[in-house]
Amino acid sequence: MILSVANKYEIQIGTISQANFDWLSSKNYAGWVLFADENTAELCLPRIEEFLPEDTPVIVVPEGELNKNLETCQDMWEDLFAAGVGRRWCAICLGGGVLEDMAGFVSSTYKRGIDFLQIPTTLLSMVDSSVGGKLGIDFNQVKNSIGVFNDPIAVWIDPVFLETLPLREIRSGYGEIIKHGLIADRDQWDKIKTITDLSTVDWETIIPSSVNIKREIVLEDPFEKGLRKALNFGHTIGHAIESYWLETDLRLFHGEAVAAGMIMESWLSTQLEALSSDELREITDYCLSMYGHQSIPEDSLPELLALMQQDKKNEDHRVNFTLLSAAGKARINATAEEELIVEAIR
Ligand code: NAD
Ligand code: ZN
Repeated sequence: MILSVANKYEIQIGTISQANFDWLSSKNYAGWVLFADENTAELCLPRIEEFLPEDTPVIVVPEGELNKNLETCQDMWEDLFAAGVGRRWCAICLGGGVLEDMAGFVSSTYKRGIDFLQIPTTLLSMVDSSVGGKLGIDFNQVKNSIGVFNDPIAVWIDPVFLETLPLREIRSGYGEIIKHGLIADRDQWDKIKTITDLSTVDWETIIPSSVNIKREIVLEDPFEKGLRKALNFGHTIGHAIESYWLETDLRLFHGEAVAAGMIMESWLSTQLEALSSDELREITDYCLSMYGHQSIPEDSLPELLALMQQDKKNEDHRVNFTLLSAAGKARINATAEEELIVEAIR
């Protein structure tokens, strides 16, 4: 399946084959360079290696969010220079959201920008981060605070890469699939809520509809001036929860924190918007069945509120939420009083 993003680039969902690389060859780049992290170099690269010229430079970076920083970028830029990569080269970015955000950013700034191609290898990067042109790194302890908007030349999504992805990472990415249904597509949500076992999901059908929801939103609002904020549902409280436990043993994966955030923000939606109590129950039961219960200790509340205040999406110091007016319908730019937020978290 091919989805087009405003005639700028195409998202292919299906098996990556020689035909993909024939297309890339037809673009007559001076060369290709491949970025991977230590895991995708080992587990994903072998699946496409046969399509690459033997002398393709491969730049491997350490995995994980803690390495999504300027030091890693500096190493990547140095490796590009060392490999003799020029302006007419193309970078192939093979990895999850961390690698793709960072390799896309490095490519977009190297010699004022070389073309890059995204091959997402986690569920989260397939349905979310590889679409929409947001690239960047963490800086000054703030996630994604340095970066650019820039589009890849193509996105190739091949669900085969999920075969080696740990189940907990799959569950994390699945949080964004739930979110896409809840903010924009009632039918998709109705389908999703019947899924109980993530090891038996037919990703070939779920991924395209989820990617399409994100694609349609970013097409209408590429620079997050309005509608794109719908994608923040579950993320205002979710990000605070994710940051609070980030460097502890209780660390939650992104989608797990977002699932908790979706439950709490759905409750807020019943208080401030028209979400019904039946819909709230359905969302809560489903997220709890997939993600379990995370109890929030009373003494973490002040810090969680402070983290929400810091959220870069806030204007005029009020905590900004995307809520639901119904399952499948988002309402952006909602604000809530502190007491209500505390009640939602409890
Ligand atoms: P990730 O890139 O850290 O990948 C998770 C782990 O899985 C890593 O250890 C990675 O090495 C490993 N891995 C990747 N593919 C694998 C495979 N096929 N088999 C086995 N292991 C594999 O994390 P993620 O969840 O993909 O992405 C999270 C990042 O995405 C965050 O930094 C977040 O800010 C970013 N993000 C960006 C956007 C955007 O619009 N740009 C949207 C959402 C999230
Ligand atoms: Zn997210």
